[in-house]
Amino acid sequence: MITRFAPSPTGPLHLGHAYSAILAHDKAREAGGHFLLRIEDIDQSRSRPEWEDRIYDDLAWLGLSWDMEPMRQSDRLTAYVDVLERLWTRDLVFACTCTRRDIQEAASAPQEGARIGPDGVIYPGTCRANRSDGGTYPIPDGAALRLDMRRAAADLSFKETGQGPGGDTGSVSITSTQLIHDVGDIVLARRDMGTSYHLSVVLDDADQGISHVIRGQDLFEATAIHVTLQNLLGLPTPVYHHHRLIRDDQGKRLAKRDDARSILTYRQEGATPEDIRRMVGLIP
Ligand code: GLU
Repeated sequence: MITRFAPSPTGPLHLGHAYSAILAHDKAREAGGHFLLRIEDIDQSRSRPEWEDRIYDDLAWLGLSWDMEPMRQSDRLTAYVDVLERLWTRDLVFACTCTRRDIQEAASAPQEGARIGPDGVIYPGTCRANRSDGGTYPIPDGAALRLDMRRAAADLSFKETGQGPGGDTGSVSITSTQLIHDVGDIVLARRDMGTSYHLSVVLDDADQGISHVIRGQDLFEATAIHVTLQNLLGLPTPVYHHHRLIRDDQGKRLAKRDDARSILTYRQEGATPEDIRRMVGLIP
């Protein structure tokens, strides 16, 4: 068993991160497997080295150890571009120059009505004709790359040992029709990043040999996208375990942007690592 914790260094870790990291760590240790770390810093405008250092420090304080040098996504940009190039040559992606507003307007056309998928408004297909038609990279400057879901979608299934927000567990199946209608042409390379969360996470999980992806239920809907990419690229599909989200006293899920209390704040107030395990319900 190889598990991982994959935080973005864009703010302090809070109780939800601690829960995810401890769960992934303990499952690997119980199975005699490995626990790995990955720093998801493709968003260079928001990532900070100070936050990365803070992550290592908080995890070590929690008593977690990881087995290899952490992987850092900002070191892997050429690996992402290689795969985008392959998908472009296979005519599975297209270049999109739509702004957020263009998409909103096109998607709200009277017959259609904007529908929301795991990545926001489902793309109305405006730029779908901008494919490579067998041409080579590079793609047009200043364009995002979207997956042409009509060409990419195939029925899929994955094993869920946790639970999605709607209660899905066990063998989860999704049809190509659902992918086309409920997910749509998602962005694989943002124009400002040259990659996207979805593409990077799939390539990195494969590269790190992750056998069990343990993460929050908020990412359950994204799993259909990740399995689609794994199938397209001939990569193995890990077992998924989506866990409940840690909520504040008002029942709102913790997020970095709110003033969710950070692990550091608890530490400074004298909490112990056991207290944190208790707060997230891992020990009575
Ligand atoms: N980097 C993501 C986050 O901090 C987690 C990605 C994942 O576990 O797939 O929410």
